[in-house]
Amino acid sequence: MKLGIVGLPNVGKSTLFNAITKAGAESANYPFCTIEPNVGIVSVPDERLDMLAKMYNPEKITPTVIEFVDIAGLVKGASKGEGLGNKFLSHIREVDAIVHVVRCFEDGNIVHVDGSIGPKRDVETINLELIFADIEMLERRIDRTRKMMKSGDKKFQSELEVFEAIKSHLESGKPARSLAFDHEQQQIADQLFLITSKPVLYAANVSENDLSELAGNRFLSELNEVASSEASEVMVICAKIEEEIAQLAEEEKADFLEAMGLEESGLDKLVKASYKILGLISFLTAGPQEVRAWTIIKGTKAPQAAGKIHSDFERGFIRAEIVSYNDLMNCGSYNAAKEKGLVRSEGKEYVMQDGDVTLFRFNV
Ligand code: GDP
Repeated sequence: MKLGIVGLPNVGKSTLFNAITKAGAESANYPFCTIEPNVGIVSVPDERLDMLAKMYNPEKITPTVIEFVDIAGLVKGASKGEGLGNKFLSHIREVDAIVHVVRCFEDGNIVHVDGSIGPKRDVETINLELIFADIEMLERRIDRTRKMMKSGDKKFQSELEVFEAIKSHLESGKPARSLAFDHEQQQIADQLFLITSKPVLYAANVSENDLSELAGNRFLSELNEVASSEASEVMVICAKIEEEIAQLAEEEKADFLEAMGLEESGLDKLVKASYKILGLISFLTAGPQEVRAWTIIKGTKAPQAAGKIHSDFERGFIRAEIVSYNDLMNCGSYNAAKEKGLVRSEGKEYVMQDGDVTLFRFNV
């Protein structure tokens, strides 16, 4: 799962991205992260892994990870090829969701591209570029569909209706994600892979001083208003502090957070919020060798979840032995849970739940 970090220049994207790479997951475990400099990988915080580790004393603990891509270069006019223009847009098409960093801090030494702090204006500037890019793509698609309609196939007529509806929505300055469709129309819309239909999380980058006193922050309320108009969420971070936290050792980190009056780091909050907007959950595997979390999309069935571990597990899937994390903890051990009948045997149609501690049985 990949999230793209976007935002105007000088809003704190690189600062946040540095925090992500510094806090980064051990790269040896994730060979795919040795790749490009604009890709950072962080572990998804999950205290259940620590609790399971106490029970199993495993050789290693492996959290699941999430990938962030720093997508720099979005400026006014990007959809027309200004700045990094098209290169930027192709990166953003590849991500599953967008973290849109919005400057909510004042600092006379750091210029704002438009001269003043204005979260609503900034969000609209970026969103408009993305909307323009979608319109351009959609227009080409509509042309093609019109040609296909000559074949007489009714399917193209319904496609065209959906496409036109999206186009006029976009032309009114709104992102595709704020348009509601019925199931069938949604399936048609999904084929378009529009940038503005990706889920967005707005990250309000507030100043160090404002972090502990958010009530009455006018920049934040302005951003909240824009976000709620399209049913997106806002989370507050201070990129500068995150960068400092990311450099600390684990023990120091807790002290630092406590001194700041914070419960968890903004980065941890960001990762959890991203998980939520992407509709992701984790199932867990536990044994003396390894305690591990695995990411799946909500609604994934047991065989496909098994396939996350190994394709052989999916192909030869027989059943899954599952105990929920809470049941396991309440019983104190796997055997105790088994005696109480809390270890269930689930088949091919079972829909995995968050925190399922799972053992897959399969044929080789
Ligand atoms: P980008 O162009 O969006 O990647 O922005 P940068 O991350 O390079 O940040 C631009 C400038 O703003 C840098 O000098 C940062 O140190 C500064 N900056 C970023 N986040 C904060 C913040 O939360 N508070 C303050 N005071 N400065 C920040």
